[in-house]
Amino acid sequence: MSENGGEFSIIDRFFSSGEATGPWFCKGVGDDCAIIDIGASRIAVTIDMLAMGTHFLPDAAPEDVGFKALAVNLSDLAAAGAVPRAFFLSIGLPKKDDGWVSRFSRGLMELSRRSGCALLGGDTVRTPRIPKADENSPAVFSITAMGDLPKGMGLTRGGARPGDDIWVSGTLGDAYAALKYRWGHWAIAPKAFEQLRVRMDRPEPRNALGRLLLPIATAAIDVSDGFAQDLTHVLERSRVKARVDWDSVPRSEALRSLPEEQQKEASLSGGDDYELVFTAPPSRRREIFEAGIASDTLVTRVGTILPLESSDSALTIYDATGGAVALKSEGFDHFA
Ligand SMILES: [Mg+2]
Repeated sequence: MSENGGEFSIIDRFFSSGEATGPWFCKGVGDDCAIIDIGASRIAVTIDMLAMGTHFLPDAAPEDVGFKALAVNLSDLAAAGAVPRAFFLSIGLPKKDDGWVSRFSRGLMELSRRSGCALLGGDTVRTPRIPKADENSPAVFSITAMGDLPKGMGLTRGGARPGDDIWVSGTLGDAYAALKYRWGHWAIAPKAFEQLRVRMDRPEPRNALGRLLLPIATAAIDVSDGFAQDLTHVLERSRVKARVDWDSVPRSEALRSLPEEQQKEASLSGGDDYELVFTAPPSRRREIFEAGIASDTLVTRVGTILPLESSDSALTIYDATGGAVALKSEGFDHFA
């Protein structure tokens, strides 16, 4: 679910009473997934709506759009530690375009098969065409994805405790750097851009790792709005603060070819990484490295959870000289 400031506050303000209106009740509104008790087990449910022009460049390959539309939902399931099982798809298109939909479907179903997450239903609607807009700009897709969890389990943002390590999967900043290049803002060598572009167009949801972390991690979130902003969501929900060491923040070789200020902007404030940020006590380090090996996913320890004290900010990122790294922005918010 996209629950960054602006978007989530609309749902929270106008639609959420915070009270149970039926037997299916979820305490954790604002987590990556709603975690619902259904008798002997639990299901995790997430919904994401994506729009051409907002979440995708208008000239993005339809196969990539389809792949990513499902990937971002699977990433929310990964953050809950849930195994993806099924999804539902709604498409709004401004015109009948079988070629586009067929290519969109190819990318989407490739990931569906690979992840064992089956399409179980959907709906389509013709959306009004906006004069002068890009061909596909009013195209919107909404995916609701569901996964299963053992009884009583499920990772949320709320469990980080003082003394916990802070971990990151994979590397951060690649997708944002690719976007900055596509916007014409940053210069990047062709070979490096090709590596970054794959991370932007085809993010790999970390479901195998997320499932292994289920009995180990104390809190988790996936990085959609930027590492600093998403970690701050964990800190707020867990009522703790954190220190992170900039030198430890995992960056790809391609990102490291850019000036350090751009690396900082991309990996700390950029978004669209779909990596997991999670916390766990130091006693679980070996198990986490083993989970990384078993899921073929890089895991890196980047900082520590601290007790909350008033008067200082919740998240501080230190560079090698001990100075605090200034954040470029608070991550991005499509509605801000
Ligand atoms: Mg999320």
